[in-house]
Amino acid sequence: MGVSMVGTGPGTSAKGHYENVACPFCGILCDDLTIDRVADGLKVMNTGCEIARAGFERRVTDTPAQIDGKSVPLDDAIAEVAALIRSSRLPVFGGLGTDVDGVRAVMSLADHAGGVVDHALSEAQYRNFRVLQSGGWVLTTLTEARNRADLFVIVGSDVHALHPRFFERIVCNEKSMFSEQPAKRTVIFLGEGLDQSAATGPRIGEVLSLPCKADRIGEILVAMRAIAKGVPIADGDIGGLSRAQVDDLVKRCKASSYGVMVWAPPSLNFPNADLTVQAVAEFVKDVNLTSRFAGLSLGGNDGAVSAGAVCAWQSGFPLRVSFASGKPDYDVERYAMTRLLADKETDLLIWIASYTPDLVPPVTDTPMIVLGTPGLKLTGTPRVFIPVGTPGADHAGLLVRCDNVVSLPLKNLLRSTLPRAADVLAAIEAAV
Ligand code: SF4
Repeated sequence: MGVSMVGTGPGTSAKGHYENVACPFCGILCDDLTIDRVADGLKVMNTGCEIARAGFERRVTDTPAQIDGKSVPLDDAIAEVAALIRSSRLPVFGGLGTDVDGVRAVMSLADHAGGVVDHALSEAQYRNFRVLQSGGWVLTTLTEARNRADLFVIVGSDVHALHPRFFERIVCNEKSMFSEQPAKRTVIFLGEGLDQSAATGPRIGEVLSLPCKADRIGEILVAMRAIAKGVPIADGDIGGLSRAQVDDLVKRCKASSYGVMVWAPPSLNFPNADLTVQAVAEFVKDVNLTSRFAGLSLGGNDGAVSAGAVCAWQSGFPLRVSFASGKPDYDVERYAMTRLLADKETDLLIWIASYTPDLVPPVTDTPMIVLGTPGLKLTGTPRVFIPVGTPGADHAGLLVRCDNVVSLPLKNLLRSTLPRAADVLAAIEAAV
């Protein structure tokens, strides 16, 4: 089989200096990092972002491929994976923590093998997809928000924890594309327990906090729609806020010259949260009739946005697509990875997790193949484990940003010589 492009081991020991590096460790893909390669690995030089530092500076150990926990040559592992896929009734390709080329290779293999594709973060992504599919929305981009917004409403999402530099880069920037001294901005946190510490600095005017339960934000937004349209509603408690607070929020949204409602789908983790996203989308549309207002969805960690984009342009559908019938078949409930595992409709899980050790597969007794970053926190021994590199650290790559408008190239920082998931998957497909 001779997969000569793959190997395991540390990268070069030569020192290196990289500027304008794109960071693949969360969906906003900051592209301004300075990274040095020092004696014992990579060092992030110009940001204290904990997620970036943990991602780049993690020591990647020399891990061989394994079958049933025993080290084997890579070609043997690939041959074993191919045999398992050949004999599988319905293989599920899950996790999908990889880059654009990696997802392309997954799609090709799933098509060839008659499998199902689903990302680890699909449940969160579908809070958005359902709204996009049913009613549409008006979204802005990171760049537009950074340069034009005068009001940010953070909707029930702990943005600072998920994306530690969002405020620094998009909200608190002291200059904009259009002015050296742009007007101050208002930031409103709608929800409880949200970290507000990053909404600070000369660019920030008022910071308001409207604490309420996340699963009642939809109720507040529906009331806001009614108030904005002049429809009478009863006074009193609205989703945990007073009528005066909700009136004030509506007034501020309508008075803004470019308001943005920001959410991160993984934070809206309660039943029927897509209805909250829908309420945001509908309110945004209403305000747009008289002013400029937009939504901005973050999230998209672990290559989730790239997986959704590639699946859509290759199959015509977002994730949760089955190729078992020989053509793409889409069903958001039927082809959910967790349901297929729980109902034992699949007999083989191929899990891909290239970025962090924390993207762990669901607990299952279904036989499992893992293409993962070394150190992945597995609870059991998979049938086959093949170590793969992290795009943007161990090899070059491409990722789609969370606002879906830009694909950013990722540099090869030579952290290790681990193979690309795309190359391993292509070798598996050739062997199948
Ligand atoms: S905020 Fe996200 S993309 Fe930016 S440096 Fe931190 S982890 Fe990387």
